[in-house]
Amino acid sequence: NTFNEFTPPILNEVEDSLVILRANENPYGPPPEAAKAFQDEVFKGNRYAWKTLKELEAKIVKNEGVTPDQILMGPGSSDLLEKVGMVFFSEGGNVVSADPSYMSLIVVAKSVGGEWKSYKLLEDSQHDLDAMEAGVDEDTKLVYICNPNNPTGSITDANKLKEFCRRVSKKVPVFVDEAYIELSKNGLKDSMNSLVAEGENVIVARTFSKIHGMAGLRIGYVIGKKETLERISEITRGGMGITGPTIAAASTSLDNDAFLIDCKAKITEARDYTMTYLKSNNFSCLPSETNFIIFEIPMDGEKFLEKIYGKNVAVRAFKFWDKNWCRVSIGTLDEMKAFTNAISEIFA
Ligand code: PLP
Repeated sequence: NTFNEFTPPILNEVEDSLVILRANENPYGPPPEAAKAFQDEVFKGNRYAWKTLKELEAKIVKNEGVTPDQILMGPGSSDLLEKVGMVFFSEGGNVVSADPSYMSLIVVAKSVGGEWKSYKLLEDSQHDLDAMEAGVDEDTKLVYICNPNNPTGSITDANKLKEFCRRVSKKVPVFVDEAYIELSKNGLKDSMNSLVAEGENVIVARTFSKIHGMAGLRIGYVIGKKETLERISEITRGGMGITGPTIAAASTSLDNDAFLIDCKAKITEARDYTMTYLKSNNFSCLPSETNFIIFEIPMDGEKFLEKIYGKNVAVRAFKFWDKNWCRVSIGTLDEMKAFTNAISEIFA
């Protein structure tokens, strides 16, 4: 594989004045009702939050159509991705995934002795499911699929992915990271959650950090087969890292569809504006069904970051497939205008 990220300049002194488009956060969150629930719950902070955690789990398992022993909550999905990396790869083996893809699980897997078997995305930016299936061997401990994928923003056809999961999960667990699924064209209809309900060995990860606008509050979950979640639970106390106020905020947000629908509409509008700008200025963009866009830049990534941070706009830069790329998260329309102005100046 060829995937690499450039390190952004350190600009502590201007951090507060930056237009921050670098971590795929939701500029509109958290929902005000959720923030209020968070504040109210602080006063119960002397107690562990087991009861409200169980109530939140019950709400989620109902939404997902799974049973109470098929969920594990964590302080963000990162925590669960990392724990899966530790548990599944502590005795080596390989993880099959796309190149490029989201690296949390893979980095931890490698750090404890696992190997990354990566498969370049297809021309249309979907996962190369055939190659990945053929790549599963006797040393494969897990397949990791990020759908929609980060850092590309592209989505893989849900029907094809479902068939892939059904076949491959008979051999090894398939982990599907759906951090951005609510932002995709079809939304939750494209989730693999029904496979968990059917008893397949598929793990689906979700987060409250993106569409729910709670990246800084830290809560996420995985659903999966009971036996598989028990393996993860050997090194974690499910939910011990999640605070009561965060649980209250997440639970409130789940009852607030209107906020999520509004966020999706605004993010889609700002994404369309940005995509139109980039394409009409001849930048080569990958298709996006998320709150970020990745496009090729005709400049070294490190030099580009220096220039764009110099204009008070924070994005990310990557190198893969022998090309330099900028990944920009979708902020408000005004923030995206600041971004397109900066790009116009840099590439004038
Ligand atoms: N998975 C993907 C694909 C992501 O892009 C991110 C965050 O950017 C995460 C998981 C982790 O999110 P969190 O730990 O905030 O739930």
